Amino acid sequence: MRTNNHNIILGIETSCDETALALYGQDGLIADVLYSQIDSHQVYGGVVPELAAREHLSKINPLLDTLLAQAGISIHDITHIAYTRGPGLIGALLVGANYASALALGLGRPLIGVNHLEAHIVSPFINKQLPEQPFLTLLVSGGHTQIILTHGLGRHEIIGESLDDAVGEAFDKTAKIMGLGYPGGPIIEQTAKHATKTIDLPRPMTRKADAMMSFSGLKTATRLAYQKNKDEDNIRANIAHSLQEAICDTVIQKVKYAIKKTQVEHLVVSGGVSANQYLRQALKQLPLQVDFPPLEYCTDNAAMVAFLGYLRSGDPAPKTLAQARWRVDDI
Ligand code: AMP
Ligand code: MG
Repeated sequence: MRTNNHNIILGIETSCDETALALYGQDGLIADVLYSQIDSHQVYGGVVPELAAREHLSKINPLLDTLLAQAGISIHDITHIAYTRGPGLIGALLVGANYASALALGLGRPLIGVNHLEAHIVSPFINKQLPEQPFLTLLVSGGHTQIILTHGLGRHEIIGESLDDAVGEAFDKTAKIMGLGYPGGPIIEQTAKHATKTIDLPRPMTRKADAMMSFSGLKTATRLAYQKNKDEDNIRANIAHSLQEAICDTVIQKVKYAIKKTQVEHLVVSGGVSANQYLRQALKQLPLQVDFPPLEYCTDNAAMVAFLGYLRSGDPAPKTLAQARWRVDDI
């Protein structure tokens, strides 16, 4: 048991289909547990919100016991309770929010409601220092595709974003159409390695001199190309590779524009899709400093929530417990 007076922040993440808890202190991450609900949602080909909320409810309490045992501390050693307040699925968020709120009340500790997107932005710096600001972030996840200029915590400017589907969504839906399973991103990445040719796909909105994006048309073009050539040899791998390439080309074009516009030469890449090696290699070619989170902190996790809670440990209590829609430029 710890006897010093240092802050120990509990972080709770329940915004989508990962139930995760972590502890963060002055020496960095203390412990980290995660239960992925992928197996439960896989049969439906996507996340079922009601099922996600129920699973969070049944897993969260036993996970806290595991976390405390792993860290070798008592629940009373926790000094702050941080949790994902939004954005996310409201039923799923409310499980974490109510659990966090009850803990804060019961233990007499401050409650910190963090923005999940800001947690992704800081995720490459877990166990490190936040870098000098401003810096740019390419946030690519299942629900978001944005290029963000960060001036400080709670001071984010959206330089560009997808007008419709997120990049992760384009991967997930394409994998589903090709009967490859869920989540699609990692499967597309693996499948693409066996490609033997490139199929022509659009690079949406790249002729426009701005950082706005759109992936819904590319998703449709990919589906049509697959349906047209369904009987061709190796079609799935070829489609997977071509989609990955089209998405990378498009995103890089938009990042280049953002760099030119802001004159900022430090790029952070985060969110589930930042695990993609093809995208990582392509972004590393850019002539600027690029930081990625460790692979285990690309997709949703509580380490980034606990870390952001640590950075925000002086924050006032949230006015409302959860917020399904909560833009990063509105924190
Ligand atoms: P998040 O919303 O941050 O939890 O990230 C989940 C999204 O990341 C899903 O759309 C996944 O398909 C996608 N994803 C995860 N790993 C990869 C990968 N290796 N390549 C591409 N997309 C990925
Ligand atoms: Mg996420």
